[in-house]
Amino acid sequence: LVEDPSFWKDHNVQVLIRLRPLSNTEMVFQGYGRCLRQESAQTLAWLGHPEIRFTFDHIACEMISQEELFRVAGLPMVDNCMSGYNSCMFAYGQTGSGKTYTMMGEICQMYGKLNEDCGITPRVFEYLFTRIREEEENKRDERLKYSCKCSFLEIYNEQITDLLEPSSTNLQLREDLKKGVYVENLTEHSVKTVNDVLNLLLQGAANRKMAATNMNSESSRSHSVFTCTIESHWEKDSMTHLRFGRLNLVDLAGSERQKSSGAEGDRLKEAANINRSLSTLGLVIMSLVDLAHGKHRHVPYRDSRLTFLLQAKINEDASGNVTALQRQIQQLQGQLSFLMKHYDISR
Ligand code: ADP
Ligand code: MG
Repeated sequence: LVEDPSFWKDHNVQVLIRLRPLSNTEMVFQGYGRCLRQESAQTLAWLGHPEIRFTFDHIACEMISQEELFRVAGLPMVDNCMSGYNSCMFAYGQTGSGKTYTMMGEICQMYGKLNEDCGITPRVFEYLFTRIREEEENKRDERLKYSCKCSFLEIYNEQITDLLEPSSTNLQLREDLKKGVYVENLTEHSVKTVNDVLNLLLQGAANRKMAATNMNSESSRSHSVFTCTIESHWEKDSMTHLRFGRLNLVDLAGSERQKSSGAEGDRLKEAANINRSLSTLGLVIMSLVDLAHGKHRHVPYRDSRLTFLLQAKINEDASGNVTALQRQIQQLQGQLSFLMKHYDISR
């Protein structure tokens, strides 16, 4: 595991694998054994015949705590966002492999401290708000102020539902010059404390379950996307400076092959959509890695709702080639949209 956050600065797409411990049922009643052996900080062997080796950027062994995992994978993302870069984390794996445990975990707070089973998302916000308080304190003379807004949505069968306003189903993706790609009518909630975020997460998780029951499906067939926009402004040399960063935390649909054999109608459509959105995500990430290495590539963002929604963010995170000029343009666009929003200035 690489603990040095500067490591992340040079690598725009990172893959970390987390090994889940066997559950008691698997161990005791079903007699399963382990099928993987960690060989180094970056290689795993699959203990089949023949053995196969896989390499990742990081391997989190089954003993790793939620807190340690956060320090390796979550903390650098927050630091990144506070510097005005966007970050995105996806949990990918079969149903039962630990995606929701890793991203959300047991969401609760005791005596103002997060429970040790809390996953990455609550920890990201605990750290984010601590850093915000520190920075605002340090730059009081520049009147530095942060504001954070969150939204939580689900994509099931290529349809978007607001998990914080579940009567809003089948929301549409729109694109405009001012806002870039956005989800029309998605609610955004201002958050100031970890508790505010925990409430949104609990509300969203309950609605995710309810939506799944109503649609006679399981949450394992939908993607959930928790987004936080971090806006800051400060004054220096008699000018107001603005900065935006966005954080996306995504719990993907189970990666197991969706049964399409014998499926008809809705089931067939659903299986096709899940496979399509996961394979599109894979293609988008591979194309971005190629782009970062200077190869020209078409990035198929538009082939699924998930990648279309996240495109601006993925693009910026992964290409790593954002030149000084592009960066300035982005900043200006950000400032313009801030002004339009806050002062009602029309184009
Ligand atoms: P997924 O979201 O990928 O379907 P879950 O996160 O629901 O999987 O995990 C399945 C089960 O395994 C849950 O009961 C969860 O608490 C448990 N689990 C997953 N990862 C771990 C882990 N690292 N340590 C302990 N229990 C885990
Ligand atoms: Mg899950």
